Amino acid sequence: MTDAAEQKMQFLFAIRSKGVTDTRVLHAMEQIDRGVFVRGHFAPRAYEDVPLPIACGQTISQPSIVAIMTQALNVQPRDKVLEIGTGSGYQAAILSRLARRVYTVERHKRLAVEAQKRFDELGLTNVTVLTTDGSHGLPEQAPFDRILVTAAAEDPPGPLLAQLRVGGIMILPVGQSDHVQRLIKVTRTENGLDYDELRQVRFVPLVEGLGQE
Ligand code: SAH
Repeated sequence: MTDAAEQKMQFLFAIRSKGVTDTRVLHAMEQIDRGVFVRGHFAPRAYEDVPLPIACGQTISQPSIVAIMTQALNVQPRDKVLEIGTGSGYQAAILSRLARRVYTVERHKRLAVEAQKRFDELGLTNVTVLTTDGSHGLPEQAPFDRILVTAAAEDPPGPLLAQLRVGGIMILPVGQSDHVQRLIKVTRTENGLDYDELRQVRFVPLVEGLGQE
């Protein structure tokens, strides 16, 4: 077996060993090459199950966390999904293989532009990237079937809860940025909101306003 093939097997093994069994999620993780989203100095480590630095002082999440969050989101083929925190674009690319339409928003224009180039390169035509402050959600496209937040807020932002359709699911990390945070699943029912706590995680903070670059 070539080194590349072995690396990819280990990559999928790491994800499965963290309890990800949904075959659609595993297939999407197999289809989207993380190497496209990690360029430069850290490129040789793209297939390791670790978060890595990207531009603007941000990080691309650990692949097993991407898989766990995607599985918890339970995306259906007809869903319209909103992601807050495009970063490298990796998570949005995975979602694009599972959903009808993905909107992903990023406060750093430079990251949004780079992510768009990667989606074009991979021929992912159902993802739209916008440079905007995701703490307000994306009212012009609401409501959403699924919302995934990949930066930690102290509490679930009200506008995001308001933009979740009845029957919809939102997955987000909550807690202070320099502490361990809790990954939460919010489900909107006919009667209100249900909250489940999934696990501990660590994400960069959700910051209000646009970035400098
Ligand atoms: N999902 C990304 C990883 C995200 S890191 C990936 O797959 O690579 C979190 C990202 O959220 C960072 O890029 C950060 O700039 C962005 N972010 C933080 N606060 C934000 C906000 N209010 N609106 C939009 N993006 C935000």
